[in-house]
Amino acid sequence: MTARFYADMALATGSTVQLPPATARHVQVLRLQPGDALSLFNGQGDGLPGSEGEFEATVARMGRSDVEVIVGAYIPTAREAGRAIHLAVAMPANERMDWLVEKAAELGAASIQPLISERSVLRIKGERADKKIAHWRGVAVAACEQCGRSRVPLIHDVATLADWLKGAAAANGTRLLLSLQEGSRPLAQAVAGSGALTFLSGPEGGLSPAEAAAAIACGFGPVTLGPRVLRAETAPLACLSLLTLGAAG
Ligand code: SAH
Repeated sequence: MTARFYADMALATGSTVQLPPATARHVQVLRLQPGDALSLFNGQGDGLPGSEGEFEATVARMGRSDVEVIVGAYIPTAREAGRAIHLAVAMPANERMDWLVEKAAELGAASIQPLISERSVLRIKGERADKKIAHWRGVAVAACEQCGRSRVPLIHDVATLADWLKGAAAANGTRLLLSLQEGSRPLAQAVAGSGALTFLSGPEGGLSPAEAAAAIACGFGPVTLGPRVLRAETAPLACLSLLTLGAAG
């Protein structure tokens, strides 16, 4: 398969363009040569609303640190999930969040909202949070380059659960809370239909009872993934898998 690269820029068939620095570095690392074919996507499709696709391209010039390409035909792709699935996750610590972002991008998530909750182990803010977010955006881009997606899931800035919930009640679609509480609905039942879905999941130590109550008050219906306690990064990925790999995909 031709190497695929994300290029954060406007692309148009027939133009000769200089790749943005991050993309150019990546092309340099793979040692492409003038005349080599590649494909480029920018998450904007061909500019028409809702379009999804990538552009064929050919390396025109390899500079010391810059790369010039000739943009070829636009090829529509159809690799997005049938419905928008948003994950709002109290971030697990260490490399587990990297893993979550990578797998969620591969499995078709539309967006990821990293949250800090009462019992979160990972409590980052300010510059450290900005750095982490930039890193996770890079992880999502790399996952999309690899898996063939032409849209990169949106990674929102870190927010506290309390702040995020203030705006969440206004979001479109079905809101679901991944919950270990008895009486939660089975996931498969709760996701019938075709509209957008937002899943809220807790950190390693779970959400506090007050946080769970606040989420329910904001319209998050409690759902269960079964009798086993899944790790913080496993639970949202299990939801995505059911929806994008199962019949509902
Ligand atoms: N010790 C914690 C476990 C947290 S697991 C506790 O008892 O609450 C991390 C998060 O994954 C949970 O907050 C929940 O949102 C989700 N989760 C894990 N297993 C789940 C299951 N079987 N059903 C629904 N959600 C689950």
